[in-house]
Amino acid sequence: MKKNRLSSILGVTFLITCLMFICFIVMFISLNTHNKKHNELTFPKSIIIDNATKDKNIDMVLMILANKIFKYDSIHITVFPMFIDTLGNILYLAYTQKFPFFNHNYVMFVNDKLPYEKMKLVLCHEMRHIYQLESKQLVETYNKKYTIYKNDTVFYDKVDYADRPFEKDAFEHQDEILKTLNTLIDATYIK
Ligand SMILES: [Zn+2]
Repeated sequence: MKKNRLSSILGVTFLITCLMFICFIVMFISLNTHNKKHNELTFPKSIIIDNATKDKNIDMVLMILANKIFKYDSIHITVFPMFIDTLGNILYLAYTQKFPFFNHNYVMFVNDKLPYEKMKLVLCHEMRHIYQLESKQLVETYNKKYTIYKNDTVFYDKVDYADRPFEKDAFEHQDEILKTLNTLIDATYIK
């Protein structure tokens, strides 16, 4: 009788231990998935995106690009819709210029009617131009005739758009930047 009682106590203890262990595993998994769903990105207040376009996804995409991918702590990008010509055609996909007299301050014109995937790629390209400007590889000359890239003067009328070295650099890097951007967006459930 005593032996039976001892073994049943041991059995019950074993069962309780098992149940507690299962509860612990379930709690651990649910806590982790909970955290994953709320894994929102935070940004310094000095990352400022003033978006005057209709596409409100541009804000988050530029914040992630500027702070999480290009690792800038302080930047101000003002985004306007791309200007249109007299026939109502949008001139370019996007265009970025350094704001005069202020550091880390940029004006970006973006075609805000682009589909989400294309918009992300275009912003990756533009952020590479900001990187060129921030690192002083590209010098903002504020004229329509030439610019200076890696100490070489590039005349717009002599070098076609696709052959300009800073454009080649941006086109070469845009896909890789987009890949990193998409990985970050997927990991944080930002759509
Ligand atoms: Zn470009």
